[in-house]
Amino acid sequence: MSIAQEIARVVSSNGDKHMKESRLKDSSLTKLFGSNVFNDRAMQERLPKDTYKALRQTIEKGAPLTLEVANVVANAMKDWAIEKGATHYTHWFQPLTGITAEKHDSFLSPSDDGGSVMEFSGKQLIQGEPDASSFPSGGLRATFEARGYTAWDCTSPAFLKEDGNGYVTLTIPTAFCSYTGEALDKKTPLLRSIEALSKQAVRVLRALGNKTATRVMPTMGPEQEYFLIDKKYYDARIDLIASGRTLFGASSPKGQELEDQYFGAIRDRISSFMRDLDIELWKMGVTAKTKHNEVAPAQYELAPVFQTINIAADHNQLVMETLQRVALRHGLVCLIHEKPFAGVNGSGKHNNWSMSTNDGQNLLEPGKTPHDNEQFLVFLSALIKAVDKHASKLRAGAANRGNDLRLGANEAPPAIISIFMGEELTDILETLAKGKKASSKGQHYLHIGVDSLPPLPKDNTDRNRTSPFAFTGNKFEFRMVPSSISISGPNTVLNTIVTEALDDIATRLEKAKDINKEAEAIIKETMIKHGRVIFNGNNYSEEWVKEAKKRGLPNISSAVEAWHEMATPEAEKLFSKYKVLSKEELHSRYDIYLEQYAKIMNIEAQAAVQMVKRQYIPAVISFTNQLAQTVSNLKNAGGSSTVQKELLTDVSKLLESANKKLAIFEAVLEKAQGTSNVEAKAVAYRDKIVPGLNDLRKDIDTLETLLPACAWPVPTYAEMLFKS
Ligand code: ADP
Ligand code: MG
Repeated sequence: MSIAQEIARVVSSNGDKHMKESRLKDSSLTKLFGSNVFNDRAMQERLPKDTYKALRQTIEKGAPLTLEVANVVANAMKDWAIEKGATHYTHWFQPLTGITAEKHDSFLSPSDDGGSVMEFSGKQLIQGEPDASSFPSGGLRATFEARGYTAWDCTSPAFLKEDGNGYVTLTIPTAFCSYTGEALDKKTPLLRSIEALSKQAVRVLRALGNKTATRVMPTMGPEQEYFLIDKKYYDARIDLIASGRTLFGASSPKGQELEDQYFGAIRDRISSFMRDLDIELWKMGVTAKTKHNEVAPAQYELAPVFQTINIAADHNQLVMETLQRVALRHGLVCLIHEKPFAGVNGSGKHNNWSMSTNDGQNLLEPGKTPHDNEQFLVFLSALIKAVDKHASKLRAGAANRGNDLRLGANEAPPAIISIFMGEELTDILETLAKGKKASSKGQHYLHIGVDSLPPLPKDNTDRNRTSPFAFTGNKFEFRMVPSSISISGPNTVLNTIVTEALDDIATRLEKAKDINKEAEAIIKETMIKHGRVIFNGNNYSEEWVKEAKKRGLPNISSAVEAWHEMATPEAEKLFSKYKVLSKEELHSRYDIYLEQYAKIMNIEAQAAVQMVKRQYIPAVISFTNQLAQTVSNLKNAGGSSTVQKELLTDVSKLLESANKKLAIFEAVLEKAQGTSNVEAKAVAYRDKIVPGLNDLRKDIDTLETLLPACAWPVPTYAEMLFKS
């Protein structure tokens, strides 16, 4: 089965499942799915045969596209879009801000007779020139040469985006680069890394005797976690509006400790949101499949059926955007920040990754007898080597400000990269490493002890939820990826490090006289050199931190430190060797990420200062004023005021302490703001502002527990998490 067939199969079974739970009729759902996509079916229907063939050559093999073909495609695309109500088109791209960008142009063009015609040429389809000079370029272009170009990525189909008012735009996925061809976006390096990986993987396959596969594509299914809260609470919190997370807030009496939210029944309000979301996504061809309640209160997850990685990355951007758009229609706000609430789980994005050939093989499928599946073990070795050798780069790919609040907090994988391989595979690999013959355990069945229940075939890997990089049967799940970023970054790193390992393996196999012996030697050496990265135990435990240190595995706790790993001479060599990112492109990214980090921290700091000065302190002052009046009234009336006085003393002490901390914090902030060197600035924010914020928060959160609910100026955790 080809990847496309496999995806189609899963999508249609997914459709069945959803049809049962929805009131949509069978035919309406199949009609709905992909109805807003200029997909293969639409192309076949609307393009002349020759044009269609030429375009497929470009999509599948990267053959150059002539302007003639582009003109025909553009015209067909325009007619299709206009029939469906579009008035505008946009080149949709993914600048280094991590979100998507679009500038809309109407199809309207003046005609000679003073009227107008609807026009869209091949040139307009292939190339755009948005004056996008305000996007970060990290020095790759000066503003006087601010030209940035967008180039059509025909491997990801064009689609229609509909907003809540029914306004329809033909949306064309594009890459975004500078006048001199440097990548200014997230898509270009991802596409380059896919090419690089394919080339080396095919070499390995050839050496192992596969004659049919001509391309290898990484496949990806990103599971997206998110929170939903009522918009009225969001609107009342400057911290959420400015930074996407709560900077203050005492814990709710109930959190996630009862584990009653995870996989719990979905409430009607949320279910109705999810249904709308599914429909919007299905129309755009996004294979939204699974939806459920997550661990934290008010937290949820959406998982699509996997796709080839480039499309999966585009779709994940659409998922994040659509989540937020549809939430508003339901009076909700979707928070995709990694840590919107302290004390309960944050959000990540489980990045399920594998490699498939164009003749339909999943290269990470072990089969029933993995011990004699040489091809599988060779590709597995490549992964082990890549992840161990470049753990710190993988860590950098998953770094952002939000993830600093999550990694290692007993809810997400720790900052140490290791691989969960499962017992059986580890046994096989370790036996082979000793030069002995390995065997597989064969199919095992789980016996549940109830005769009426069928025996369940047991997977040959158990699940381990604590590992950052887990083998899950026929794919790897990279669990460290932050919920809010584009998956292109981490996957560009993953693809590239695997490319290098495959390149080394291919070179050895191509030179070998006895392929089997050489393959065995490769597996053995990989285990001896890189087996230390395999860990099947509890990654959340203290012992693992110590054990990992003994094994020499890096433990990088902050984003600032992690990004540095992508700016080393070694990283330059690796990424330029496979033409994924040049030295300049790497460094521009390093600068941009550090700058972004400092800006995000600055926003958090400013929002905190504003809330303390304009909301918390005034609220506490008016409460102490009331208390003081009560004390004096009681004194005049001859009543006892011990309780009131005690409370007044406690609250006043905290108020003084918070005020002192605020003054120190503001001074530190001013200093950080004045730092000019990007690296020093990011470090200043990390080392001074982060602890300052935490310290300030302690007093305010304690005050929250002392003041009457009606006197507190912002919505509480209990309200946001349980009343949304
Ligand atoms: P889980 O128990 O983690 O939910 P699933 O089997 O549902 O496991 O898979 C989770 C995600 O992995 C889904 O998005 C799924 O489509 C994706 N996935 C499955 N097979 C592959 C593959 N070969 N390559 C990439 N992603 C895959
Ligand atoms: Mg999963």
